Amino acid sequence: MKKALITGVAGQDGSYLAELLLGLGYVVHGLARPETLTGPKNKMWRIKAIRDRLILHPGSLQDYPLLLELFAEIQPDECYHLSAQSFVYDSFDEEIATMTSNVNGTHHVLSALKINSPHCRFFFAGSSEMFGKAAATPQTETTSFRPRSVYGISKVCGFDLMRLYREFHSLFAASGILYNHESPRRGGRFVTRKITSTAAKIKLGLADEIRLGNIEAKRDWGHAQDYVRAMHMILNADNPDDFIVASGETHSVKEFLECAFGGLGLDYKKYLVIDPEFFREDDPCVLAGSAEKIRTQLGWKPESSFQDMVGDMVASDLEFHKKSL
Ligand code: GDP
Repeated sequence: MKKALITGVAGQDGSYLAELLLGLGYVVHGLARPETLTGPKNKMWRIKAIRDRLILHPGSLQDYPLLLELFAEIQPDECYHLSAQSFVYDSFDEEIATMTSNVNGTHHVLSALKINSPHCRFFFAGSSEMFGKAAATPQTETTSFRPRSVYGISKVCGFDLMRLYREFHSLFAASGILYNHESPRRGGRFVTRKITSTAAKIKLGLADEIRLGNIEAKRDWGHAQDYVRAMHMILNADNPDDFIVASGETHSVKEFLECAFGGLGLDYKKYLVIDPEFFREDDPCVLAGSAEKIRTQLGWKPESSFQDMVGDMVASDLEFHKKSL
């Protein structure tokens, strides 16, 4: 039976990946922050249904001795490093925390794995934010990185560390450069979930407006369940390599609104309030990824369309808010 260790198991991607791996017969270990495991229950909601089948380890990626111990004990076959801080920073302190925790966290995991479980395959969750002000559109695996956020810079550092361990320490270290991926488990601060949740509330008479910033902004959005499938394929390929995981389509926030509200028989224009509070000074340029390499080499393609993804999120939020009636 294969053993996997997932960092960030209680997050959107970690929870879907854990379900996928359990379904494939893996023993799944998960690392999560102690406050996630023992704090208010809502932090655990994404893994509630599978919690009894997971082996959970409370701990921080900053705790290097703990990681050494975990790799020595578990001897995982696969490690999916998904944990990262990705919030929008309100302060310089938060920028520093993002850098420290993302870069050192990745370094600690790679080093502990190399020392105590070198046969273990390592997956690094890269991000489209690594391209920043992209040198070309659509981006491919050879497009240069020009990150424009501290988060993007921390991901480029993590990516370079992963490549160093692949090339100089001969680890099976691979990555997915993941474009935005959404689902009913997306955090409520992201525009997609904000829209589907508010649309559901409006439909049920629980809200009467939606306040947004730039609705012309565009993203390459895919369904998180498709993206965790890609992660597993990447770690089970013949050779360690880097792959863009993207839908290849871009849609605007406006199109997302039309699809979410339209699916509920509502006209979003009647409820939309454009609010300067939600505009960003430096919104990244439109990023669109080419998933050609992973499609041709590993046979991955998304199963959910943009419409399927929005529909799934709306249906889930409608169910959720009905319970509060
Ligand atoms: P990310 O910026 O790609 O990580 O994802 P978000 O979901 O936070 O934002 C996607 C896009 O939606 C950005 O270009 C935002 O400027 C735009 N947007 C417009 N209104 C809002 C809003 O009210 N909240 C958020 N989060 N984004 C908004």
